[in-house]
Amino acid sequence: MATKKQEPKPAVEKMPEEEHIETTADVLTEIPAEEEIIAKNEKPGIDLSAWTPRTTIGKAVKDGTVTSLDSVLDHNIPILEEQIVDALLPNIESDLILVGQSKGKFGGGQRRIFKQTQRKTSEGNKPSFATLAIIGNRNGYVGVGYGKSRETVPAREKSVRAAKLRVFKVSRGCGSWECGCREPHSVPFAVTGKSGSTTLTLMPAPKGKGLVVDSECAKILRLAGIKDVWSKSFGQVRTKINLIEACVDALKTLMKTKLREEYTTALGYREGPIRAQH
Ligand SMILES: [Zn+2]
Repeated sequence: MATKKQEPKPAVEKMPEEEHIETTADVLTEIPAEEEIIAKNEKPGIDLSAWTPRTTIGKAVKDGTVTSLDSVLDHNIPILEEQIVDALLPNIESDLILVGQSKGKFGGGQRRIFKQTQRKTSEGNKPSFATLAIIGNRNGYVGVGYGKSRETVPAREKSVRAAKLRVFKVSRGCGSWECGCREPHSVPFAVTGKSGSTTLTLMPAPKGKGLVVDSECAKILRLAGIKDVWSKSFGQVRTKINLIEACVDALKTLMKTKLREEYTTALGYREGPIRAQH
């Protein structure tokens, strides 16, 4: 698209291109249901009575033998059914990352939740939609998932499902020398994550500082329960999918690092959810 704008062509050649833009705009007119889709998404109807578990861990969850997500995650049991996460994390929330951008007239470029691509075939253009969803309980558990489909709604459902299956535990703490409150409101130490060319470093910040990161990246930290953070980034940050994956990589590195006991108390280090809420 950008190269077309830079090189103005004769008006005769421009005609078929304008027709092409019209067709893309036609596809985009279906999207304004986007707001409705998000509104529907905020109230996930969890109906576990209709669920027939197929895996061993699924059956154990439905019976009530397994009651915490920690016992599933700590043993590296693969989660293959999204209802396991629904049952064990009742107050789960989901959000969508703005990975795409609108096309069409007036410059386009506004960020959208649907990444829209087109494949050229002999029958015509075949559009495809993709979304990046994040889920979390704002208290130590998050997951990120990517979903792609030829329609908008299945793409969102696929991504939310994929995010639930990829749920992981996050550790928190307060590693800020300006704060030292020993409460888990930030990260316990600086961590770096990488995906593609994108490198993201999360650093502990004092209480009340807020999330000093990219606004899309802040969504995942918010759903993880991290309230204050400073950050540094290198590489192509505009590629949101890679930025989010780098953030996930950093959060997973937090869990991989083992601390000595003297540091766990000094940093207010906690893994997973915090029971006593203030
Ligand atoms: Zn603090």
